[in-house]
Amino acid sequence: METLAILVAAGRGERLGAARPKAFLELGGRALLRWAAQAFERAATVEGFVAVVPAEEAETARELLSDLSKLRAVVAGGARRQDSVRAGLAQVPPGFDGVVLVHDAARAFVEPALIDAVAAAARESGAALPVLALVDTVKRVRDGFVTETLDRSELFGAQTPQGFRFALLERACREADAQGLLLTDECMAVERTGSPVRAVPGSARNRKITTPADLQWAEALLREERLSA
Ligand code: C5P
Repeated sequence: METLAILVAAGRGERLGAARPKAFLELGGRALLRWAAQAFERAATVEGFVAVVPAEEAETARELLSDLSKLRAVVAGGARRQDSVRAGLAQVPPGFDGVVLVHDAARAFVEPALIDAVAAAARESGAALPVLALVDTVKRVRDGFVTETLDRSELFGAQTPQGFRFALLERACREADAQGLLLTDECMAVERTGSPVRAVPGSARNRKITTPADLQWAEALLREERLSA
């Protein structure tokens, strides 16, 4: 079964407070988008990928990724993450009966092995995502006061790539849009259809680079790896 990936990189990265969209910030001399794309280039199960970027960065992105043999297209994203995902989905050939992986380019250090594991689970179960157990005790807070402590043993943080059989993902996204839902990931749309979503072990390295503290973590990781190389 063929596997295609959509790398969403069209966010503004406002929480990082940088002048450029986040995916174009450099870590170790390489843009976040390029780090993520290289992992997909190396993942054995992936046949091709589409990068979704801010319209004004499309040319830069094409240059940045031009040597990667699995790059199929660079397209402009939309205002919300789910609009960017839809722009990527529009590049998947109609009738495609394989697996589509959707990945946050901001998770720049995703490992090829994790990509392959999610693709395999999605092929088998229809939908899959990597998760990490939460380390903090989790509270529900309303108007500054705790209303509930949630059972941590059942709570996990959702990562990407999230993988789906294409027809399932397309239908779920279309329905979610029709219902006016705001999605923070694609599994959310698929869960609503009642289809099972398989959870596979995620990885600490696959952290989403969102805040200045995440950027510092990423820089420290690269320094450590250079020292031990
Ligand atoms: O905003 P959030 O942290 O959920 O973004 C996750 C990923 O989605 C990032 O890689 C970001 O570039 C992408 N995104 C997008 N289009 C948007 C918003 C976010 O491609 N409109």
